[in-house]
Amino acid sequence: MTTESPIGATVLGYPRIGRDRELKRALEAYWAGDEDATHLHAVAEATRIDALDTMTAGGLDSVPVNTFSWYDHILDTSVLVGATPERFAAVEPSGDLLAGFDAATYFAMARGVADVPPLEMTKWFDTNYHYLVPEISPDTVFALRADKPLQEYAEASARGVNARPVVVGPLTFLRLAKAADGAPAGFDPLDRLDDLVGVYAELLSVFAEAGVEWVQLDEPAAVLDLDPEELSRLQRAYERLGAIEGRPKLLVSTYFADPAGALPALAATPIDAIGIDIVRGTTVAGVAGVPGIADKTLVLGAVDGRNVWRTDLRRRLGELVPFLGAAGAIAVGTSCSLLHVPYDVERETGLPEGLRESLAFADQKIAEVVALQRALTHGADAVRATLDTSDRAAAGRASIPGVRDEAVRQRLALVDTEQRQRPARAERATAQAERFDLPALPTTTIGSFPQTAGVRAARAQLRAGTIGDDEYVKRMHAEIRRVIDLQERVGLDVLVHGEPERNDMVQYFAERLAGYAATTFGWVQSYGSRCVRPPILYGDVVRRDPITVGWTQYASACTTKPVKGMLTGPVTMLAWSFVRDDQPRSVTADQVALALRDEVADLEHAGVGIVQVDEPALRELLPLHVRDRKAYLSWAVDAFRLATSGVATSTQIHTHLCYSEFGDIVEAIDGLDADVTSIEAARSRMEVLGDLTARGFGGKVGPGVYDIHSPRVPEVAEVSALLTAALDSVPVDGLWVNPDCGLKTRTYPEVEAALTNLVAAARRARDAL
Ligand code: GLN
Ligand code: ZN
Repeated sequence: MTTESPIGATVLGYPRIGRDRELKRALEAYWAGDEDATHLHAVAEATRIDALDTMTAGGLDSVPVNTFSWYDHILDTSVLVGATPERFAAVEPSGDLLAGFDAATYFAMARGVADVPPLEMTKWFDTNYHYLVPEISPDTVFALRADKPLQEYAEASARGVNARPVVVGPLTFLRLAKAADGAPAGFDPLDRLDDLVGVYAELLSVFAEAGVEWVQLDEPAAVLDLDPEELSRLQRAYERLGAIEGRPKLLVSTYFADPAGALPALAATPIDAIGIDIVRGTTVAGVAGVPGIADKTLVLGAVDGRNVWRTDLRRRLGELVPFLGAAGAIAVGTSCSLLHVPYDVERETGLPEGLRESLAFADQKIAEVVALQRALTHGADAVRATLDTSDRAAAGRASIPGVRDEAVRQRLALVDTEQRQRPARAERATAQAERFDLPALPTTTIGSFPQTAGVRAARAQLRAGTIGDDEYVKRMHAEIRRVIDLQERVGLDVLVHGEPERNDMVQYFAERLAGYAATTFGWVQSYGSRCVRPPILYGDVVRRDPITVGWTQYASACTTKPVKGMLTGPVTMLAWSFVRDDQPRSVTADQVALALRDEVADLEHAGVGIVQVDEPALRELLPLHVRDRKAYLSWAVDAFRLATSGVATSTQIHTHLCYSEFGDIVEAIDGLDADVTSIEAARSRMEVLGDLTARGFGGKVGPGVYDIHSPRVPEVAEVSALLTAALDSVPVDGLWVNPDCGLKTRTYPEVEAALTNLVAAARRARDAL
């Protein structure tokens, strides 16, 4: 047995949007018609070459390619296997090509054109990256179109790079796909696995001809509690691919969780290497003795590809060593693609004192992987200086100013269950009905109103220092007044201030809470050209001053109607940040909850009787393994309750959840114990309500009756029909009327027209009672 492996140090993927978001800008300029395809290609090439050069110079032995994308790697896989839905045949070709594929068709699949809606977009596992959902029917004609991976391989090889093409594997592709409209009921895209594997077989032969030595097939779906039938399908697929004569060596990488049953299934096939994510829990005990594993190379995902903390190398090395005897060979990699982290922490010179030394972005993670591989191969002494530096960073992390705040810790230690408990719902409902003189079917919105160019400009000018605080406040007040006037004009019952002061619902609060840091260049692709800059939650969370009270109070003073305060919940504050990994997330969530609890109390003292605490990410953090969900939901619900249970019986707590599939989290949503819960429901035409009530949801509910994801203004009759449908599942005194989500991406004319119709429909429904 040898510790040398033909893969060596590697990463599963690298960021692709450009160090300064060059690709984002090039895409947007191309879409706007300001730049031509030549410019787009030049920028794309520069981004790829920068990635290749960085990975090679960083000392990786095997470098991933085909990890670039013009938009999304699942969309690229749809193109690769010929799964372009038929409706895109109607798109007028642009004449521009993206690796042999028409650019107009490609971007129409991503973004839609006039009459041709795009592919649906959804979150990639439990990350905040969004992919485009493949559409598969019994008639999808799979056909290989390998131009893109071949070109990227050739581009790298020509530079002397030991390149390893990466392609999403067939099981994951179909598992993430949805049945195309018109597919027969009961059709499961996975039923097409055998056909699709034929295309992958062809791909492997094409790669072999091109001289490819290793191919990486990404199978993160292997970690999703597959049933026995799916496991045997996975195994059959890789038995078939493994049996191909003269094929390149095959690395099948699993990530985001323990592969559980998928590991023996894969180990039983003739593939060469298996990637496992040891950051998220695979231990040597789960690997040792698995039949077939002794013949495989294990690529150990030892450096966290999803978070920004520096790896404690000596500790991690200690965890890696036991694997040496468990498999045929060992290689070191990242836990998943580095797509989910920013490029380079060295550029972040504005971070709080000492923090940068504790962080590793993509470029630093390359060095970590290389050091771990060297230590495994040549012994720890070969990288002694690196390990010493890592030791110092690990030891120093606890003493970064702000990491520990004893006052918060003591306060949290004293929290008891009573602080997470409100009086019974019925009692609250009575008190609130007395306090707020609301009609049946009360109307409200989810919080944000259109973010106009003027509002954005004011924020930018404040930041740049070209306007002062007074001027800024004046402009925000003007916007708030406009939003209040609009809501009074259309006749809504519970008003909001419109959130004009918020750049983002998480960032805004993160910037105002101790314990959070902001980066300057830390952009991460969210989807297509959209990037986010997640704040880093590195320390104990403390709210020093009220955050939202002034704006909400101003809005209240503009109207006699109740104004609802608007906060972001603890789980969402974690989900859209890089969160410290030196304590359980439950503790961090509770710290955020305490900060929010103080904010809620201050709102209440200022006379705000209704407070909404948004938790759109509650579902996103749901663990991939069912067995881990209960524990997660328990701390998530607890944190929400800690944030919201400090109020009077007559104070009304709302929450908002951004999706319409509740499945088995209904109990948890009920457990949040909000008085009113608004959810997305317009597209599913209220179907979700049946789910909620069937599972015993007890609160009042505001199912969205206006799909804010589209510029379309719903007619009164449409909204009325949705309300009638809603009243089938929800008693009349339990129903609120609101849009699906916030209105910040819409325009004022759309919003005013839609809300007018919404109110008209609610009034009609009231009259008919
Ligand atoms: N209050 C936020 C808004 O209206 C909620 C956004 C969300 O659910 N993502 O924009
Ligand atoms: Zn929402």
